[in-house]
Parts: sequence; C-alpha cells; structure tokens
Amino acid sequence: MTDQDFGDEFQTYMLVVAHPDDSEFSSAGTVARLKDAGKRVVLIQVTSGDRGTSDASVDPAELGRTREAEQREAAKRLGMDEVVFLRCGDGSLMPDLELREKIVRQIRVHKPDVIITHDPFRPYALHPDHRAVGLAATDAVYPTARDPLYFPEHLDEGLEPHKTAEIWFFGPEHPDKVVDITETFDRKMHALRAHVTQVGEAAELEPRMRDRARELAEGHPFELAEAFKVVQMRR
Ligand SMILES: [Zn+2]
Repeated sequence: MTDQDFGDEFQTYMLVVAHPDDSEFSSAGTVARLKDAGKRVVLIQVTSGDRGTSDASVDPAELGRTREAEQREAAKRLGMDEVVFLRCGDGSLMPDLELREKIVRQIRVHKPDVIITHDPFRPYALHPDHRAVGLAATDAVYPTARDPLYFPEHLDEGLEPHKTAEIWFFGPEHPDKVVDITETFDRKMHALRAHVTQVGEAAELEPRMRDRARELAEGHPFELAEAFKVVQMRR
C-alpha cells in the first residue's frame, strides 16, 4: 500500500528524542500513519527522563525506570518496531562528540532513510536537551555517519557507513511538511496517556493537543496535523 504522503522511496524512519514523551507530543500521529503505511519505525530515546518531576523526594533511578516502561508502552500502542534507550543523563546533554558518536552508531545499526528529531535551529528553543539532541543528530547524519573515517571503530565492529536521505525537524518555526493526523489523533492521545508520570489523567490535555493540531492544519484541507521542516541531505 502506498501512502501518498510518504511514498515508496523510504522504508525506515528513526526518531531521535531527548525525553520519554517527546516523540508522542511531537510526532505520534505521524508515527501511527507511518506504521499504517508499512514503514519501519525505530525510536532512539537519549535520556530516560530521570529528572522529569517537580517532586524532590523522587528517586531519579526509579523515575527513569518508570519512564522507560511508560515509553515502551507508548511505543507498543503505536506499533513502533524498536525502542533503544541510550540512558544519558536527563538535563545533562551537550551536542558534543560523545553524544554524536552514540547517535552515529544507531544510524549505522538501523540505517534510517529519514531521521525525525528536535529542531535545534528554532529561535528560543529553551530546553537545552532538546537543542543538544537536535544538533547532535543533525551533525551525526552529515557528514559523520556516512563517511568511514569518522568513528572507524564502528567499522571494526562490522557496522557500515550510512547515508540518511532526509531529516524532519519537529517543532519548527517554518514547517514545510504538514501531515494529516485527523484519523490518527485518537491513537496519538492513547499513546500520550501511557506517560502517566507526565500527563496523568489531566482533562485539559486532549483539548490542548487538539487546538495545537488544528492550528498546524490551518490552510490545509484537513482538520488536525503535525508539522515538520524537512532538510534533504546531499547524496
Ligand atoms: Zn523533552
């Protein structure tokens, strides 16, 4: 089955996100559509969100384990193919070579055609982890993952250089790919609800998400959307 929004050219989509729930807030409606279209979807979870609470009595290690379980459940609800936890420290990410190496390794393992990640170029993107992951993922794609002299130890392990064709940035200032999620919005909400420690039963979540999705769909012939800025990489 060909879904006109995604075409036949790309088969593997890899999300690279900072915290459990980032992928659902930004992209779950799109992920559901990708799965309906028969695509492979892999999630790289850079931190386990072990500081994501306003309760000072919480044990971070315990919270990280809980949030990993929540993320696994959310991924299962969407039919994602694989979730990888890098377990970097929540709130401690830097767009440095160490983080880049970890993402390059995942690119060489999973060979994505498209990477979906935080837009690090949006003005006033305030969360440092979001900026760090967006930048590190961008720098991992080009030129690092595709050329063999970067992290050659990966090649010694049997991995190969890989060219990713496109990066889709979520949360962009100027989106140029607006995906219709009218039919998958309920699945997005169901997946988001798996993040119990973050969204709980909050009644205002659904209308807030619906309003946002409606805004993103403005000017398009559908009701609800998620939006991305697409950057095509040199082949
Ligand atoms: Zn986040």
